[in-house]
Amino acid sequence: MFLDRDGVLNEDRPDYVYQLDHFKIMAGVPLALQQLKDAGFLLLVVTNQAGISKGIYTQQDMEKCHRYLQEQCGGLIDHFYFSPYHPTISESLGRKPGSLLFEKGIARYNIDPTTSWMIGDRERDLIPARLLGTRTIQIGAIEEKSEQADYSAANLITAAQIIFTH
Ligand SMILES: [Mg+2]
Repeated sequence: MFLDRDGVLNEDRPDYVYQLDHFKIMAGVPLALQQLKDAGFLLLVVTNQAGISKGIYTQQDMEKCHRYLQEQCGGLIDHFYFSPYHPTISESLGRKPGSLLFEKGIARYNIDPTTSWMIGDRERDLIPARLLGTRTIQIGAIEEKSEQADYSAANLITAAQIIFTH
């Protein structure tokens, strides 16, 4: 299970989310992650964090948020893959819609992408998954529904329900 972070696991903000008091885990997320884990999925977060290369926050700030998220969901997340880069500073295949972060996870955990899912809120989350043959679910943002989405869901709980019925 590939998971975008902002807008899927925690509430997104107009600017970057990097302070603990702004890091609001969305309703039902710990439960949904537990259900997915119980169903046998690895849980890999794949997140663009360009604020790092822009100097807005540090990798340590981000890791503090990730530790908090792990605490709140019982350490269920197997790995966080992040891209600190921004195209105005340095290009990276790791930055979504590039697929490198996904490929790292696929290689490390010997994952079959065609039996995997990607849950994201933006089209750029879904494009690399589609390229790899991974099924996609778009969360929220119905007003900008992506053609890259195989399914759409209001939140992670309903996304998990879709996965369990397919
Ligand atoms: Mg997002």
